[in-house]
Amino acid sequence: MFISISFSAFIYKGATFELNRIEKMQRVRRPVPAMPGIDPEIIEETKNRITLSLTLINLLILGVSGTAGYFLAGKTLEPISQILDDQKKFVSDASHELRTPLTSMKTEIEVALRDKKLNLRNSRALLSSNLEEVNKMQKLSNYLLTLNRYQDNRNVLEFKKTDLKNIVEKVVKRFSTQIKEKNITIQLKLKKTEIQANENALEELCSILLDNAIKYSNKGGKVIIKTDKKTHAILEVVDFGVGIQKSEIPHIFNRFYRADSSRNKQNTDGYGLGLAIAKNIVDTHKGKIEVTSKPNYGSTFKIVI
Ligand code: ADP
Repeated sequence: MFISISFSAFIYKGATFELNRIEKMQRVRRPVPAMPGIDPEIIEETKNRITLSLTLINLLILGVSGTAGYFLAGKTLEPISQILDDQKKFVSDASHELRTPLTSMKTEIEVALRDKKLNLRNSRALLSSNLEEVNKMQKLSNYLLTLNRYQDNRNVLEFKKTDLKNIVEKVVKRFSTQIKEKNITIQLKLKKTEIQANENALEELCSILLDNAIKYSNKGGKVIIKTDKKTHAILEVVDFGVGIQKSEIPHIFNRFYRADSSRNKQNTDGYGLGLAIAKNIVDTHKGKIEVTSKPNYGSTFKIVI
């Protein structure tokens, strides 16, 4: 409005100056005194009309810019309010996940304390049940810390030449107990795949994908892991397990999201944070993560960096 009003004042000044000049010239150049010059009333009326037009134009600009400003400010604030909502939901989900084991521990301890005949055997059972809950909380806090570590942290992480093939081999060894327990066949199709990356982050990424592939495979199932490098480095983890409904695929990278199939099954513990961490790691490496899946046929997670 300051610019528009200044500009209007400038136009008004210029226009009135020209009008006065025309009137003066007309007076000077009048050959015969009887010949009429410009009527001063017409000059005054013209000035008033200019003032009115400029005021209307300024009011119009005020109206249009005010309305546009209101809508644009709303549009600009939309992502910020989305972030705030996400943050609120995240805090409430995390507190809920922590409250469940805490409530269960509290109840067990209270019941045990009220029991006057509490013996050593029952105390041990109580402690081991409490330890289970503590382990769950420790796992959750580790997940939360990891999630935080890989969120927009590209500048803090050390990047060096890393071979995805070596990382996969290391991670598969680490999962040997779970692989044996579920009698899973692991098929490795690994080619040397060197990229600039953070080694720990890539290990975390492979662990999350392999952990899920084993967790969501049936007993005696098969998991294929491929690494290859052409124009981009590729890591692919294929399983033939429960699969994911098409409608759930867009949500599986959200924090604390667990698909129906996994929530209903008691044997697949988890918090729905693994893939959120995986996505952060892939983003940190400026890569892409793609999923193809079909319920009861299996899933393929492909990372392109
Ligand atoms: P969770 O701890 O539940 O495994 P994730 O973030 O790793 O959490 O995965 C989110 C959800 O995506 C899981 O609850 C599961 O429903 C689905 N999911 C992930 N990986 C697979 C897979 N390989 N097969 C089937 N479903 C999967």
